[in-house]
Amino acid sequence: MTFTQLSVLVVVLMRPTEVFMRPAEVTAYCSCKKCCGSQAAGLTANGYKLKPKDLVIAAPKNIPFGTKIYVPGYGLAVVKDRGGAIKGDKLDVWFASHQEALKWGRQKLIVTQFGEKK
Ligand SMILES: [Zn+2]
Repeated sequence: MTFTQLSVLVVVLMRPTEVFMRPAEVTAYCSCKKCCGSQAAGLTANGYKLKPKDLVIAAPKNIPFGTKIYVPGYGLAVVKDRGGAIKGDKLDVWFASHQEALKWGRQKLIVTQFGEKK
């Protein structure tokens, strides 16, 4: 078990009121033109400049920027982006390279979300 997984487990076991687990359909993207269109500039929807080891998620609008979500196989990431196709239970995890994003594919996972359930 990694430190991050252990931290998540501790938080879940402590049962603060604002942590819950839920199913999500998780796809992946990078900052390339294929993933982000011709305006791709390596900036997220909230103006954050992406760095190679960042763990960033694009989530639907009902999940506020700054929300932390633990995605198994990816890590503890922060919502900093949006996406036209990211609706409902969909999430999009960011990778530094297109190859890594393709490798991730589309996965149905149980994620742990920190924050108020809506
Ligand atoms: Zn890409």
